[in-house]
Amino acid sequence: MTHQPPETASAPRRLTAFLAEPDPTARAVLAALLEPRFAVVVQAETLAEARDMAPACQPDLAVVAARLPDGPAAGLLAAMQGVNPHMAVFLAGTAEDIVAVLSTVALPGLRCVVRPFALKSLEEALDDAVGDIAARRFAEDGWQLVRHLLDESPNPSAVLHGPEVASLNRAFLRFMGLGSIGEFKARGLTLDRFLADPPPPQGLAAWACRLPDDALDRDHRLRLVRPDRPHSPPQVFQVGVTRLPGRNRCLLTLTDITELELERRELLDLANRDPLTKALNRRKLGDVLAAETARSQRYAMPLAVVMLDIDHFKAINDTYGHDVGDSVLIELVARLGGCLRQVDRLTRFGGEEFVVVAPGIDAKGGLEMAERLRQAVAGTPFAAAGPVTASFGLAVFRPNDQGQDMLKRADEALYRAKTGGRNRVERESPPPTEAR
Ligand code: GH3
Ligand code: MG
Ligand code: MG
Repeated sequence: MTHQPPETASAPRRLTAFLAEPDPTARAVLAALLEPRFAVVVQAETLAEARDMAPACQPDLAVVAARLPDGPAAGLLAAMQGVNPHMAVFLAGTAEDIVAVLSTVALPGLRCVVRPFALKSLEEALDDAVGDIAARRFAEDGWQLVRHLLDESPNPSAVLHGPEVASLNRAFLRFMGLGSIGEFKARGLTLDRFLADPPPPQGLAAWACRLPDDALDRDHRLRLVRPDRPHSPPQVFQVGVTRLPGRNRCLLTLTDITELELERRELLDLANRDPLTKALNRRKLGDVLAAETARSQRYAMPLAVVMLDIDHFKAINDTYGHDVGDSVLIELVARLGGCLRQVDRLTRFGGEEFVVVAPGIDAKGGLEMAERLRQAVAGTPFAAAGPVTASFGLAVFRPNDQGQDMLKRADEALYRAKTGGRNRVERESPPPTEAR
């Protein structure tokens, strides 16, 4: 894919006036007024001459006689404003000639110069027009500079106008594998096309344009897929949106935080996982239980907690050594994990003791799950240590339970499984009302 050079900031065009006036005296007077104000003043005497010269000089301002010797100026002025809608137009002539022109064409922003000329007010009107032209030039130059700076930035940026993408900087075009904003539009693309996740309902561009109104000033990230690397993991970007002058216009800037995000995940993993078995650790268990008990409370959803402990693990260590003990722990986690759903969380509670948190599972399902786990341990000898068994205690959510309440009851049930002979599942004691 070739990359077209960005539209470069062209050299500033010189301020140009166009004067079409057949009368030599009037022309000299008008030229004398225009020359100090404009770098170039192009002069014509007839309609034919004016038609020839006007397209090439691209004037910022035109002073044209309403009646030229070879015809009225109406068509010429309309054509010139068609090319440059911002062109200031001064129509000079008698009141009748001016009215004749105005009856045939609409010329927005037209200023009339009725003969005989009132020089002072004509000068003021010219100064006003030059001021307007200079202000617009200044804004255009500023915009060119902004585009230039955005193109130099390594961060993908887009100027958005509500749901529309008005422009894309070089880094964004490169990411998309495109040469120009024209190509983006010609192919009917949207920013949503590059998202790794489902887009917001109103579309990404409209969503981004509303972010400056977000009173909470939240942190937003996007995951985008490069079309030339469809199978690579998405790149992660931090979203920045700045409001631009004009209604519903904004600048979207994306900062690539893929590396940072990877590091953040690795650090989170380190903080949340047991380094030996890679099961979640006890610290994370606290978070998981807090979230799941709150959810069960709110939605009256069942929740099962199973605590398990390897039987006579000390003997395994003593017989085969600590390394074999470690390998049993690792194999145990793999076996348990193989019996669990994606939503179940397996955590190492300590030593050779583990806790499974299973959302949506009631007492009956909990007993079945614990029995499945028991079988997964006891059913097949372990690679390095031969037969291994574990004991299990089950607790299910009761209204107003905290995580600690469930752990305590699961632990008591586990204790009964141990004292009852090991390699078995026990459920918690029934609540006092059920016991009666
Ligand atoms: P019970 O059936 O009553 O649970 O007996 P047990 O031997 O399994 O229980 P006990 O609490 O007496 O012993 C647990 C042992 O687990 C003692 C400890 O050294 C060992 N252990 C704890 N963490 C690790 C570990 O990370 N690796 C290894 N290899 N051993 C560990
Ligand atoms: Mg044990
Ligand atoms: Mg133990």
